[in-house]
This record gives sequence, structure tokens and C-alpha cells, in this order.
Amino acid sequence: MPASNQSFFENVLRYFDHAAALTGLPKGLLDQIKYCNSIYHFKFPLRNPDGSVEVISAWRVEHSHHKLPVKGGIRFSPDANEDEVMALAALMTYKCAIVDVPFGGAKGAVQIDAGKYTAEQMERVTRRYTHELVKKNCIGPGIDVPAPDYGTGEREMAWIADTYMAINTGHLDALACVTGKPVTQGGIRGRREATGRGVFYALREACAQKDDMKALGLTSGLEGKRVAIQGLGNVGYHAAKFCREGGATVVAIAEREGAILNTRGLNEDQVLQHKKETGSILNSPGATNLPGSNDVLESECDVLIPAALENQITAENAPRIKAKIVLEAANGPTTPEGEAILQEKGVFVIPDIYANAGGVTVSYFEWLKNLSHVRFGRMGKRYQETMENRMLRAIEIATGKQFSESDRSAIVRGADELDLVNSGLEETMAVAYHEMRDTQLRNPKIKDLRTSAFLNAIEKIARAYMELGIFP
Ligand code: GLU
Repeated sequence: MPASNQSFFENVLRYFDHAAALTGLPKGLLDQIKYCNSIYHFKFPLRNPDGSVEVISAWRVEHSHHKLPVKGGIRFSPDANEDEVMALAALMTYKCAIVDVPFGGAKGAVQIDAGKYTAEQMERVTRRYTHELVKKNCIGPGIDVPAPDYGTGEREMAWIADTYMAINTGHLDALACVTGKPVTQGGIRGRREATGRGVFYALREACAQKDDMKALGLTSGLEGKRVAIQGLGNVGYHAAKFCREGGATVVAIAEREGAILNTRGLNEDQVLQHKKETGSILNSPGATNLPGSNDVLESECDVLIPAALENQITAENAPRIKAKIVLEAANGPTTPEGEAILQEKGVFVIPDIYANAGGVTVSYFEWLKNLSHVRFGRMGKRYQETMENRMLRAIEIATGKQFSESDRSAIVRGADELDLVNSGLEETMAVAYHEMRDTQLRNPKIKDLRTSAFLNAIEKIARAYMELGIFP
């Protein structure tokens, strides 16, 4: 893995400072926005099956309370550390602001290699982690709402919800204490694939801009674009799926064990199936192996999607990157030094704080669903169908022609939960893209989308503080 000589949080501060310098906002207000409001580091014991006990380190960082609750995932990783959680919490704040999700930013982590423990132990760790958050008032529907991140998923979110509800019996809104839950436990349809789907919408929006694509020497539209993806976890897998279904060709995929290439296109389901059977993506049928996971970053492609961890594109490897577009599905995959080189090379970077915001956007929808205690679409679906049928009937009477059954069923369809979630996500990603791009086009000093994304976020957060009357 290419090393970065700066800490992840320092990198985020650099990105922040670069954009903040364009705002003209007072230093006190900018400082209030940029630093983490609270950092909670705690430890708890875990008993192993052989009777030995080890002490586990864990964190919850709340970066900004300008809006409540604060929101952000929980990472289970042996490499988790305080600096990383701080950086990720800060990115959550900006991400929420960019897509107008009315939350402050937070992040949590447990320093553990989940693969080395039994499911029972992981359940104990997750429930204990939740108890520690409850003790310090760091979880609750109106306080701080965790979600999945690297190393966690629906299973852990269900344990968190269950633990919280056991402590808060009778609290009507208790289910809204965490998002990313299984649908049967108060989750929402479409959350699992939301980040990857959002990444796809981001790319589709960028590729639809004829002038931008022309400047990069690319045709507009997704059709035929060669995509390389680092990481086939939940985000990478779904990004690959939606991009392929949208007409792109996935020419390279990397996992920890190495990377595979196929210029005619890879199918993420087949690659994942191969990994399930053999324990590795290497030697997937029809593909060529590359020795290192990071080789994928330098592969021949039009669009590079880092969908793994931070600090992947650095000053060391950026000169060799061939992609014209870097679409940051991971949080913090590019260091400021790496980014400077990409910029010199004319690479179009779609920044993480926008590109991967689909996850938290649909988390917001889940939270709303939990608070309203009703599934989206339940009240309106049938009514919409009735109205559409009436409209068709009126057209039939006016024209004297009959719609066929297949035409009728293609036209008459009330929106269900998944339709509404996906449409809300699509709208959110499209609007935020143009907000970010327009800011850049309006300001000749801004050379990249990251700066305009940060600038928009900082200005929105600053406005919230001013409206609260905290700053003049
Ligand atoms: N962990 C995800 C992220 O980094 C999702 C956070 C959320 O849904 O609250 O954006």
C-alpha cells in the first residue's frame, strides 16, 4: 500500500483550508467548523474461547454539532485509529452538507480484525460498544445515529438497534438510533446498494456533460467507458454492477489479494462467485492476474474507482495513473500530494464527499421512515395507480382507442418504497453534482471539484452556525 507522510486528518484539514481561504469567513467560525467537537476513546475486555482476555480499543468521534443528530458509520478494522476516525467524522460533516442531509458528522471504530473472531464474539463486541455509547450519550435518534462502514453491515446494525431498544424500552422512536438495518428490523429497501448506486449516478451525471467530456478527450455518456475498480466490498460491488448495467465496461477489479484484468469486461457477480469458491478473485475465468492490489490504480482505463480505503492515490503512484476520471467511492482515497499531480495531468476527480454520499442519503430516508413509522409508498401507491387508470380511461374515451393490457400495466404503477428511495437518491446526487460543478464554473480560482464541494459545504455549515446565533 503506498504510504502517505501525513496523517489522514491532516489531509482533510488541508483540503478544508484550501477551500476555506476562498470564503472570507472569520477564523473563529472556520475553526469551529473544522475541528472535532468531541472524541471519545474507550476500551473494554473481550474473553476468547480459550479463556484469555484481550482489551479492545474503540472510538466515537462527533465532528460537528451544527445539526443534530450527528451521523456516520462504524468501522471494524485492525488498522482503526483515532486520527482515522477523526478524519472520517469530518468527511461525514461535509458529505451531509453537500447532499443537504440535515445531520452533523460523526464516525466510530472498533480496532479489531472481525474475521478472526466468532460471530458470537463479534455480537458481544458490538453490543458492548453500543452500551458504551449509551453510557456517554453518544447514540440516540436525535443525538448520534451510527451506520455501517468498512467491516460492518446489516448484522451489526441489527445488534446495535436491539441493544439500544433493550435499554430504552418503550421509546417509540428507538429504531431510528441506527441506520443500515436489515429491512425486517426497520431498515429501508435500497440502503444496501445505496452508496454504489450513488457512485454510479455521480459518474452518469459527470459523463453527461458534453463539454467536460470533450475536454478530457472522452465521448459523453457512460456507454463503452472502461472502468477499473479497487475493492469489491459492498460499495465496489454495487458500483461495478450499476456501471456495467449502465453501459460501461469493467476492465479491472482489485481485492486485497491482487487484481484481475479483462479488456472485454468483467462481471462482478461471476468474480464474486469465483472468490467465494476459491477464496480469491485471482484466476477468475477469462481474466489476467496482476500481482498487486494497487496495480489496478495504474491500469489502462477511462474511469478509476477507488472503493477500498484511504491514502491509495499518492505522490508516488499518481504520475502513473492513466484514468481520465477518478471517482472516489472510498473515503479519502487521494492524498493532497496525489491530487496535485492528478490535477497537473488534467485528471477529473469526483471527490469522495460528494461521490459516496449516496449511503448517508438513504440512511436519512431510513431515519425518516423510522420516525414516521410508515413505509414510503404505503399511503400513496394505490391512489397513484387509481389516478393513472382514470387518466388512461379518459384518454380512451377521448380517442376511442383501447390501451393493450401490457401498455396499461407499463404505464400504471404506483411508486413503492424502493422506487421512492432510488428516485430520491438520484435527484439528490444530480442536484448536488450541479451545485458543486456550478460553484467551480463561477469561480475561476477553483481548479477542481473537491475545492468547490468543500466550499459549498463550509458555506452551508457556516450559515447554520450563524442562524443559531452562535456567530455574528
Ligand atoms: N459509512 C457510510 C459513509 O461513510 C455511511 C454513513 C451513514 O449512512 O450514516 O458515508
